[in-house]
Amino acid sequence: MRVDLHTHSSVSDGTDEPAVLVRNAVAAGLDVVALADHDTFDGLAEARDEARRAGIVLVPALEMSCEVAGASVHLLGYGPDVADPALGRELERIREGRENRVLAMLARLATLGYPLSAEEVAAQAADATSIGRPHIADALVTKGFFPGRDEVFAGLLADDGPAYVDRYATPLRTAVALLRAAGGVPVLAHPWGRASRRRLTPEVIAATAEVGLAGLEAHHTDHDPATEAELAALAESLGLIVTGGSDHHGLGKPDNPLGVRLTGTDQWRRLRGLLSEVW
Ligand code: AMP
Ligand code: ZN
Ligand code: FE
Ligand code: FE
Repeated sequence: MRVDLHTHSSVSDGTDEPAVLVRNAVAAGLDVVALADHDTFDGLAEARDEARRAGIVLVPALEMSCEVAGASVHLLGYGPDVADPALGRELERIREGRENRVLAMLARLATLGYPLSAEEVAAQAADATSIGRPHIADALVTKGFFPGRDEVFAGLLADDGPAYVDRYATPLRTAVALLRAAGGVPVLAHPWGRASRRRLTPEVIAATAEVGLAGLEAHHTDHDPATEAELAALAESLGLIVTGGSDHHGLGKPDNPLGVRLTGTDQWRRLRGLLSEVW
């Protein structure tokens, strides 16, 4: 079975519309795909309708912006009630932080000699209810300042870049509790990718498992094979599910095609057992 539990659509910072993403998942030979847009469920209804037509299992999901000791970490949530009021309010708070921070980053960009209007960014985020740095990057590319998203993320908009502005993110333990209360299954996304390795120590992961974390996304392109193996071993020692996914963003991340990383069939069956429904 081919199970990809991490994808994004144009409702956040991917480039495929939700229905297109589902058709592409079928074309990529996937049996199960999770749509996990950043901080929003807005693509799920369209994806569900297409999944029913196309004959593929769709897992309703999201990737929530969280923080541990002030550092950004991402939490995947599988199968929560998308109408849960407390979770919905928290997601709204995160999205509001995203909107405000775009304006702050535009102000920085202007002083750095890269003038960009809010309208130009909005045009790149046409379908998105969850706006982010990739949309600003796309606007800079459209204006001819840079060849692609990568060059923007390598400089101006890097985490320590001159135009970077921080934004609100949910404390990790709070997010785990909110997802659990909404019937969802929380899984740490790319725990040891990029900068998060320093914060998500085995001790922090173990403590989060005690308050409801269910799994670790070991199989991710931000992890080298040794890191994947270490994370899988840590998950096993803590009784956590081991997941994997492509983190597909369409044209926004050309190195992450659908299915480039997968969840093992046995691990998928464990996760499936914790979900009240799939679509
Ligand atoms: P934000 O959530 O607005 O801070 O932006 C972070 C998003 O940018 C994440 O979803 C990443 O997947 C994406 N991202 C990070 N680095 C890159 C890159 N080099 N190229 C394209 N997208 C990236
Ligand atoms: Zn993204
Ligand atoms: Fe992520
Ligand atoms: Fe992601």
